[in-house]
Amino acid sequence: RDPNVKKPEWLRQKAPQGEKYQEVKESLSRLKLNTVCEEAQCPNIGECWNGGGDGIATATIMLLGDTCTRGCRFCAVKTSKNPAPPDPMEPENTAKAIASWGVDYIVLTSVDRDDLPDGGSGHFARTVEALKSHRPDIMVECLTSDFRGDLNAVTALVHSGLDVFAHNVETVKRLQRIVRDPRAGYEQSLSVLKHAKLCKAGMITKTSIMLGLGETDEEVREAMSDLRAIDVDILTFGQYLQPTPLHLTVKEYVTPAKFAFWKDYGESIGFRYVASGPLVRSSYRAGELFVKTMVR
Ligand code: SF4
Ligand code: SF4
Repeated sequence: RDPNVKKPEWLRQKAPQGEKYQEVKESLSRLKLNTVCEEAQCPNIGECWNGGGDGIATATIMLLGDTCTRGCRFCAVKTSKNPAPPDPMEPENTAKAIASWGVDYIVLTSVDRDDLPDGGSGHFARTVEALKSHRPDIMVECLTSDFRGDLNAVTALVHSGLDVFAHNVETVKRLQRIVRDPRAGYEQSLSVLKHAKLCKAGMITKTSIMLGLGETDEEVREAMSDLRAIDVDILTFGQYLQPTPLHLTVKEYVTPAKFAFWKDYGESIGFRYVASGPLVRSSYRAGELFVKTMVR
């Protein structure tokens, strides 16, 4: 952490609790499913797994292994040029386990797999199809890589039956090269989100931006306007937190009031829903957000 920037009180984590949280946790250990929620020790577990006020429990599952082919400077995931090949049984096994689990909304995500010809899109699509065949009522969001800009990979996934297509631009335009792996980029991410929206009528799209990396308000407004121009529906803002001393330092701890400002501003310029707060993550209470988006 930048020694000049002190971690504020509002980032203190609360211990998770609640009835549904216990239920989800117990079935999870039986099913041997690895959630990002637990592995990343996400501070939102209590809220997501309990489903907040609406009772829509959300959890995030990682597909395609734990080793990424990229190396973004904000992310502590392991990296390698040649990660282990995907487990061909993962889509079916994961779908079965999730289907028998008491969760209403599932976010499927993965590391980037530039080593696979389709970037892993087919693997995602098979998981969504298997999941919907076992439990047609479950809502599924896929939070994906940019598939190296391969729009056919995007099309294949969008048509798998998922409810929300999510891909993160992560930061404002100017900071892309500093924050993300050089193979990622602002224009490429926008083109993926734009294509997902256009290739299927009614597709809901979603993206996230981390704050506290040195972006200016003007740059945040510019990114929001670029995302509105391609009709992105849901936007989330959260505080960037440095995972290890080797990663980018935090330039600023954005206040809860400023996060609230961005939520109001975002909804005033046409996003169907904006979740914005210091501890908000891309999948934060995603089930509730989706339902609220649909009724607006
Ligand atoms: Fe982490 Fe995703 Fe970047 Fe890989 S592509 S290093 S998983 S943020
Ligand atoms: Fe899990 Fe995402 Fe919620 Fe964290 S924010 S608990 S990772 S669903």
